[in-house]
Amino acid sequence: MTESGLAETGLIESGPAKPATRRLFFALWPDDATRNALNRTGKWLHQHWGGRRMRADTLHLTLVFLGELPAAQIDALLQSIQDIPIGAFELNLDQTGHWPHNRIGWLGLSQPSQTLESLVRALRDQLRTLDIPFDARPHTPHITLLRKAPGGAAPECLPVNWGVDRFVLVASNPQADGAHYDVLQTWRLATQ
Ligand code: ATP
Ligand code: MG
Repeated sequence: MTESGLAETGLIESGPAKPATRRLFFALWPDDATRNALNRTGKWLHQHWGGRRMRADTLHLTLVFLGELPAAQIDALLQSIQDIPIGAFELNLDQTGHWPHNRIGWLGLSQPSQTLESLVRALRDQLRTLDIPFDARPHTPHITLLRKAPGGAAPECLPVNWGVDRFVLVASNPQADGAHYDVLQTWRLATQ
């Protein structure tokens, strides 16, 4: 008898139910030094704008938001996403911003990064080929540092330089204290 058959008879414990779907997104995930620098900026921004700081372990830059994907399709997705022929690059995060409509305080770029845009485009192209839906609205690169922030005058900030050499696929688990994230897989960008 199969394991699921045994579970049905009650002969073995079936364990907690697995979710039918998972909430997924591709992201840039900081190394420890960049995470610390981003977290310091969050602390400083919080002094100006208030709100709730994001936990340091959650800081990231979303590349493509997929939303809910059937759990059964995730292995195929992990195997299908190919390395992207884009080399490691630097992001100069030098722009703070506050969006009144969702009260998010963020750090982003005063100048668009062509390489970042190419990476997003390449991922979107692969997802289209795989017939996997994603949020196709224009990409606004930002790292959320504050939630529920009243905001205020825009402070100058010390830029954070992020040496980007990988991207990841993340599953988001909504919880009472904010979303928790699981990094499911990492793809490296070529370094010289
Ligand atoms: P919560 O929604 O529980 O407050 P969260 O926004 O961090 O927490 P998710 O909603 O799962 O968690 O989002 C994961 C990431 O994807 C975040 O960076 C979020 O800004 C981004 N994101 C969420 N929805 C979209 C969307 N429709 N388009 C683009 N990015 C999105
Ligand atoms: Mg959200």
